[in-house]
Amino acid sequence: MTLTDSIKDVKNKINDACKRCGRGSDEVTLIAVTKTLPAELIKQAYQTGLRIFGESRPQEVRDKTPILPQNIEWHFIGPLQTNKIKYVLPVCRLIHSVDSLHLAKSISDFCERKYISANILLEVNTSSELSKIGVPPAEAREIFNKIRLLPNINILGLMTIAPFTDVEEDIRYSFRRLAKIKEELHSEMGRDQRLELSMGMSHDFEIAIEEGSTMIRIGTSIFGPRGR
Ligand SMILES: *Cc1c(COP(=O)(O)O)cnc(C)c1O
Repeated sequence: MTLTDSIKDVKNKINDACKRCGRGSDEVTLIAVTKTLPAELIKQAYQTGLRIFGESRPQEVRDKTPILPQNIEWHFIGPLQTNKIKYVLPVCRLIHSVDSLHLAKSISDFCERKYISANILLEVNTSSELSKIGVPPAEAREIFNKIRLLPNINILGLMTIAPFTDVEEDIRYSFRRLAKIKEELHSEMGRDQRLELSMGMSHDFEIAIEEGSTMIRIGTSIFGPRGR
C-alpha cells in the first residue's frame, strides 16, 4: 500500500468507528506518529495533507523539526526527562506524556523562565502492568488538580496506553477507566472546559474511538512497521 492509500484507509476506519457510535469524525484528531522515521518520509506524509505529527524522543524533535515545514503541529508523546524539556518546548503544541507532578513542575518552571506556556495531558496507567508509565488511576484526579494550579501550564486532558493484547475486553476496560476519570473531572470542574482523551494506537484506535477518544496516535498503520 502506498502512503496515500494507508492514510486514506486509516481515515476511513476513523469515519466508520465514529459512525458506529454516533460521533462526528471531526471529534477525533489524528496524530501521525513519526518516531524513528526520517524527515523525508514525514515530508511525504505532509504532502498528502497531514499536519499533526507526534514524536516520542526529545533528540528527534530537536533534529527533525527545524528541517520540516514550519506549519506542522508537533505533539510530544514519549517519556520526557526534565533535562530534555528544552528540546521539546516550545516546539511542541501539546505534551501528552506528563506522568508526574514533578515533571509538570519542571515544565512550569522552564516556561516561566522563557515567558512561554505549555499545553499538557496527564498520562495515566490504566493497564496496571508494572512496566507501564503513568500515574495510578486512583491518584489521577488529585495530581491533575495540583497541576491545574501551576503557572504557565494548561492541562487539557488525559492520555493512556492500553495493554498490548488481542483481548478486546482488556483494551476496552483500560480506555473506560480513562474516560471515567475524565467524567469525574468534568463533574468537579464543570463542563465549559472540554477535556481531551488521548487514547488509541494502530492496533486499538477503533475501540478507543468507541470509548470516547478525542486524539488517536497512529504510527504503524500509516507508515508500516518501524523496525526498531
Ligand atoms: C509509538 C507510539 C504510538 C504509535 O504506535 P503504533 O502502534 O505504531 O500506532 C502511539 N503512542 C505512543 C505513546 C507511542 O510511543
